[in-house]
Order: sequence, then C-alpha cells, then structure tokens
Amino acid sequence: MKTNASSLKDVLIIGSGIGGLTTAIILANLGYHVTVIEKNRLPGGLTRSYTRNGIECSIGVHYLGSLDEGQILRRFFDYFEVTSKIPVERMGQNGVIDRYLFNTGFIKTGTFDFPEGFDAYEHNLKSTFPEEQKQISAIMKPMRQAAEKLHSLDLLYSTQNDLLLLDQYKPLGEILTKLNCSPGLKSVLSVPSCWIGVPAEECPVFYHNMALVSYLSSSWRLKCSGSHMADVFAERLKSLGGSIIQGDKVKKILVDSRIVKGVRLKSDRVLKAPLIIGAVHPKVVLDMLPDGAVKPSYKKRISNLKNTFGIFCVHAELDAAYHEEIPYNIFKIDTDKYGNIPDIKFYQIRKSEKSEKNILTILTSGKLDLWSKWKDRKTGRRGKDYLDKKDKHSIQLIDEAQEILGPFKGLKMLDAYTPLTIRDWVNSPEGSAYGVLRSSGQLLAAALLNRTSIKGLFLAGQNVVAPGVIGTIMGSFRTVKTIIGSEQFNKKVLVS
Ligand SMILES: Cc1cc2nc3c(=O)[nH]c(=O)nc-3n(C[C@H](O)[C@H](O)[C@H](O)COP(=O)(O)OP(=O)(O)OC[C@H]3O[C@@H](n4cnc5c(N)ncnc54)[C@H](O)[C@@H]3O)c2cc1C
Repeated sequence: MKTNASSLKDVLIIGSGIGGLTTAIILANLGYHVTVIEKNRLPGGLTRSYTRNGIECSIGVHYLGSLDEGQILRRFFDYFEVTSKIPVERMGQNGVIDRYLFNTGFIKTGTFDFPEGFDAYEHNLKSTFPEEQKQISAIMKPMRQAAEKLHSLDLLYSTQNDLLLLDQYKPLGEILTKLNCSPGLKSVLSVPSCWIGVPAEECPVFYHNMALVSYLSSSWRLKCSGSHMADVFAERLKSLGGSIIQGDKVKKILVDSRIVKGVRLKSDRVLKAPLIIGAVHPKVVLDMLPDGAVKPSYKKRISNLKNTFGIFCVHAELDAAYHEEIPYNIFKIDTDKYGNIPDIKFYQIRKSEKSEKNILTILTSGKLDLWSKWKDRKTGRRGKDYLDKKDKHSIQLIDEAQEILGPFKGLKMLDAYTPLTIRDWVNSPEGSAYGVLRSSGQLLAAALLNRTSIKGLFLAGQNVVAPGVIGTIMGSFRTVKTIIGSEQFNKKVLVS
C-alpha cells in the first residue's frame, strides 16, 4: 500500500464530471493543490461522448443554455478560460429552439414552438392560447425576474438567501391550477420541469423557471464532441497545476474521529488530504464512509433520497442526403386530459463526423423496471436477452420517430443505452440521469447537500444545487463558497 503525506492546501476530488472538474479549477485558481480521481479511463463523466462506427454519440450534453455574452454560462466559461476552445452554434435562428408535438387536441395545430427570447415566447403562448392572456402575463413576470437573478449571479454572490422565500418552492402545477390555466397551456408550460426529471405537480417553481429561462435566454449546440469539451476542462485544470488520476476508483473515504483523512483507491493506493470533495451522488459518498462515521439521522436522510428517472437513448446513422440536420430539437409530448405529462421523447438529427451520414438521437425516460431483470449483471455480461430487449425497444422508438420525421433512408443502429449503462458508467444510483429529485416533497432532505457532518468532507456535482451543465457548475461555486466562507469567496472568486 502506497501513501502520500498531505499539506493543508491538498484537496482530493472524487469524480471528473463537469462538477468535479469545475470545482477543481476554482480551487486550483485559489492556490489549492488539486487531485481529481476518476474511476473511468478518461475524464468527463456524463459530459464525455463515445464513438461508434466513427461517429460521436453524446450522453449528457445535447444543448446548452445562456452562452451569450453577459449570460450565466458564458460568464462561467469565461471564468474557466474555456470559451474560445469550445466551439458552439446558436440555435433558434429560424425562430425555433424546441418544437413540441402534442398527442392531444389541446392545441389546434398540435405544435408549439419554443423560441429564443422572452417576448417571442410570450407572443407564441398568447397566440396559441388567446383566451389566457392574463394567465400568461402573470406567468411571464416571475420568469423575467428569474432571468435577471440568473444572469446577475445573484444566486452566487448575494448574502441573502433568496431560496428561503417560500413562494419560490411552490410546485409549478399548483400555481398553474390556481391561475386556472387550461390543460393545453399547462402542458406547454410543464415541459421544462420534465427536462429536469421532475413532474410539474412536484416541481418547485424556482427550478422550473431557472431551467426554462436558461434556454430561453439563448440556446447553443456544441460544434465539437462532448469528449472535446471534457478534455478542454481537464487540460485547463492541468495548466493550473492540478492532476487527474484516471482508471482508479475511490473505494473508501478514510475518517478518524469525524475528521476526513484521505481515500483508499481500488488499486490499494492511499492518498491523504485534509479536504475531500465527493463530486458524485451523495449515496455513493455514504457507501464509501466507514460504519458509524456519520450520525444515523444523516445516513437515513441520504439513503432515503428519491432520484430522477434514468434515460433510454438510441443513436442511429441516417443518409445525410435524405435527412438534413434539423436546427431545432423535437419533443413528442404525451399528456393526460389534465395537461400532465407522463412521458416525453426527445429527437435530434445532427451532422456527424462523416459527411454522408447524419446522426439521429432519441432520448426517453428509461424506467428502471424495464431493465431491473438485468440489474445485478455487470456490463458486457448482461447477455443476449438484454441485447434483444434493447434492440426491440430501439426499433419501437425508431418506428415512432418515423411517424414524425418520415421514413428513414440508410438507417443503421449505432448504439442504445439504458439506465443500467448510465449507472455503471458514472456510478449514478439506479441510473438516475439528473440525480436527486428536486421535488417539493423532499425539499428539506435535498437542501444543503454540499455539507456533511465530517470535518473536511464536502460534496459537489449535479446533486448539490441543480442538474444540467449550468446547475452543476453553480453547485461547484456554491461548494467552494461553503468551504472558504462567503467573505473570502466574494473577495477571491471573481466571475466577471
Ligand atoms: C442522457 C442525458 C442527457 C442530458 N442532456 C443535457 C443537456 O442537453 N444539457 C445539460 O445542460 N445537461 C444535460 N444533462 C445533465 C448533465 O449531463 C449533468 O447534470 C452533468 O453532466 C452532471 O455532472 P456531474 O459532474 O455532477 O456528474 P457525472 O458527469 O456523473 O460525473 C461523476 C463522475 O464521477 C465518477 N465516479 C463515480 N464514482 C466514483 C468513484 N468511486 N471513484 C472515482 N470516480 C467516480 C464517474 O465515473 C463520473 O465521471 C443530461 C444528462 C443525461 C444523463
């Protein structure tokens, strides 16, 4: 067993997703000696894409919000000095970022276009639902305020905790019902909460508004692969003196008298540090702690956290000559008669690395019970019945996609992944896509997840503030703020 001596400025970060890497860069900027430990062979977690048949397939980055100058993600990217290295293209140039297709008769045309900009969104809502001008005006006002708050970085630097305002936590569904919105308007407005895996009836309006306004402010697609984006962040960390240990898993967090001491890796190597950040799901951190390291009440709280659903994804290649890139995303939305959304499907056709082929991506909620039969079998050993089930499910989704996009020419399956794939790739409990469910029902249990009762042990990643690239990076800053204190943070961490 090899060990290292530690200095006060040493920090170990478990996990190299966008949460681990950005927390690492902020701390390296502050003069910490940062080591990130990643179980996979390459860094990036969900950000990283993978290659099939020479084509890059995305996992966790299909589009990004708020990358225009002065907007929140752009300000974050500028702070990390990665903006010029991550090529992106702006969506919505033809007026559409997302096209919603509904199965119900709520909307005459069956279609609603989500555009760029608040005025355009309000206009589209008011012309689709002309009887509901008052409701729409009432809904737009807090959205515009949420945008101001988001881009001004108030949530980062403000000394008041606005999140404690109770009306921010009312469920979106309750607000829409009180406003007497029609099922059609309700279903259109509920789509963003579904993006983050929380049904509108349970989604605190704060999370819904943040998700919606981040894309409404401006939406972008990567013009590079997810792997390139991950590598840019990893290289930036290295240029600041940080290092990444790849292909070695943290097995145990070492704790003595409620003070964190270090970690033991799968290879049996021991690394010591007075500061450790688990940029992984809180349950994963809990499982790595010695028995009795935390109070039973904390253990119970974390063990009982409910998570968002997993995702099933199909990637296929299509003849580019017949299937041009579609410059917007398509959502097929199944609603019930009340406007609730039990299921949603997401489609993209994008250019690929091969000029003669474009890539079709289909995402849908990948309910775990469909795959639970194979949950105890490891990747590669799940067997033919699992592969057959994946194929069958993919074919159904492709058939459904053809009803919308027309018959596919030159279709060739590239890959499909299930919640079990996500679970094993990034160690996400039950293959949850967006981690801890940010629902009104578990507000208290999911609050302040970046602290633990162990001195020197903190959490980061999508579970501490909100999911998505913006929410996860926001979590990185909030964790550093918790570690160094508000005063030092406001003085030394300058996102301009
Ligand atoms: C299918 C899908 C589509 C999405 N689409 C979008 C989108 O279009 N736009 C958007 O903004 N967001 C999207 N998201 C959400 C976004 O990808 C995530 O919120 C974000 O990437 C989470 O980053 P993270 O660092 O918290 O976690 P992760 O990326 O999961 O990183 C955790 C890392 O920790 C490593 N790890 C785990 N356990 C250990 C251990 N014991 N030792 C060492 N390493 C360990 C894992 O291997 C992984 O690399 C999507 C998510 C999914 C699943």
